[in-house]
Amino acid sequence: MWEWAKQFAAFINKDVANPNESKKNAVMTRCICSVMMLYIIGQFIFMLYYGYYSYAAFPVGILIIYAAALCLTYSSRTLIARYLVILMVLGWCFVSTDLYGWNMGAQYAYCTVLVYIFNGTHISVRRKLGDALILMAVGFLTFMMAMTGTSVFLMSRMQTVIQEFMNMVSTMGSLALITVIFSQDTLDTERKLMDYNREMTYQAETDALTGLMNRRAGEKYFEEIRRRSMRERFFINVVMGDIDFFKRVNDTYGHDAGDEVLRALSSRFKRFIDGKGAAVRWGGEEFLFIMVGMNGDEACIDVIDLCHEIEKMTIPAGERELHVTMTFGVEEVGMDQSMEDVLESADRKLYMGKARGRNQVVM
Ligand code: GH3
Ligand code: MG
Ligand code: MG
Repeated sequence: MWEWAKQFAAFINKDVANPNESKKNAVMTRCICSVMMLYIIGQFIFMLYYGYYSYAAFPVGILIIYAAALCLTYSSRTLIARYLVILMVLGWCFVSTDLYGWNMGAQYAYCTVLVYIFNGTHISVRRKLGDALILMAVGFLTFMMAMTGTSVFLMSRMQTVIQEFMNMVSTMGSLALITVIFSQDTLDTERKLMDYNREMTYQAETDALTGLMNRRAGEKYFEEIRRRSMRERFFINVVMGDIDFFKRVNDTYGHDAGDEVLRALSSRFKRFIDGKGAAVRWGGEEFLFIMVGMNGDEACIDVIDLCHEIEKMTIPAGERELHVTMTFGVEEVGMDQSMEDVLESADRKLYMGKARGRNQVVM
């Protein structure tokens, strides 16, 4: 059953062959055709059941025209199909109101047609307004006819209930489908836009080589966490790290090997900082760590561990295995320090470490 419904949905949703045609129009027309065909079959059964045989050819004719309209949507003639549908709905409303009276509720279908007309895409507003005016005129004419004359059949209460039910269900079904088609489209567009925005933000804030935050994102993160720390009173430490003699790696093993080293270290940094703050690719082979919620001593112990680990790391780069070391400067952020001050201090400590022989942490 589910499979069958899926196949039917795929059939209704099939793309249009002509790129100049609107798929939405075609799908909408197919939906209305399907609902109206079911409805007309219902009407046919109603006529047979209550013995109105002489009129039974009428729904059969309409059914054939709906089927033809459905086929036309698959052969790039959606516009013709569209007018066939509008004509058939209006025609049936007029005739069935004449047969069963105003109380049967066929006039609900005017709402369907109105929504169908105005939701048509690739159709000018003037044309839509013209169609709507004709619709109104036919609607009013139907009403006048029902008011001034008597219906062909005198309906029993039960017959009126059945007709009212069929008309209500078909109208609501058509309206629901048209709305779903339109809202689905908007939802899809919205989702795509959100994905796109997320992707753009990611690209704007992420360093392409290492996947770490880039400098701009790092600065933003620092300002945000700084504001929070003022309110919530927690420690922040800023750590500036730089790879030792990295130029030599490039010069000796090539730029690609250098990139491998940057990537390998960065994935280690990600694990190191996970849940503790942020790691930022500050410059070429310079990294900034913003460590949140620990004091200077605690941060220093963590960074010393990291420094030792890096020293022991074996980094595969092509055929070779490389070893590097890093030097770090740790600065606990004071209440009245600006970002520039903090960075300058961390940088000074880093260069102190370089001067003292590298592969160390300066606090
Ligand atoms: P020190 O220990 O004093 O920091 O020496 P160093 O050689 O690491 O410092 P220096 O500033 O002289 O050299 C940094 C090198 O980093 C130079 C540059 O080519 C390299 N570099 C910067 N960005 C990248 C990158 O994205 N990929 C590669 N492979 N190398 C990079
Ligand atoms: Mg360096
Ligand atoms: Mg450097």
